[in-house]
Amino acid sequence: MSEGLALHWRLIQPRYNLVGTKCINCDEHFFPPRNLCPTCRRKSKIEGFKFSGKGKVYTFSVIHAAPTGFEFQKPYAVAIVELEEGTMLTTQIVDIEPELIEIGMPVEMTFRKIMADNDAGIIRYGYKFRPIKKDLTAAKRDKGPAKKKSKKKKS
Ligand SMILES: [Zn+2]
Repeated sequence: MSEGLALHWRLIQPRYNLVGTKCINCDEHFFPPRNLCPTCRRKSKIEGFKFSGKGKVYTFSVIHAAPTGFEFQKPYAVAIVELEEGTMLTTQIVDIEPELIEIGMPVEMTFRKIMADNDAGIIRYGYKFRPIKKDLTAAKRDKGPAKKKSKKKKS
């Protein structure tokens, strides 16, 4: 039941997470993971690192002619995302019309269908990024007109 689902989820989690490496020596982060820090070289101290999965759009382009296997989702946007940790990666942006994407837009990792192999019926999954939904509590912070039923009945 729910226990089985939890177990299943736990087993596949590592594949879904954005796991790279970092160099403890200079605090640089790598994705995809690297075993050697190009800055420190022999002084590299590499260990595994799980990225937060949050970042922002550094630059992007909209692909209109989808290659075979991607037909079900065209046009689509491919972006270079700058992660919070400073690492750049190339990824697809989903859950937004491509024309609404802006440079600097906050995005987060999500796990989606990457492509479908029409012959074998194989569907592959991988990470993509989507816009981070606007924080409603942050919007309330500047205390706009909260409720229409206010005591503004003067005279
Ligand atoms: Zn280093």
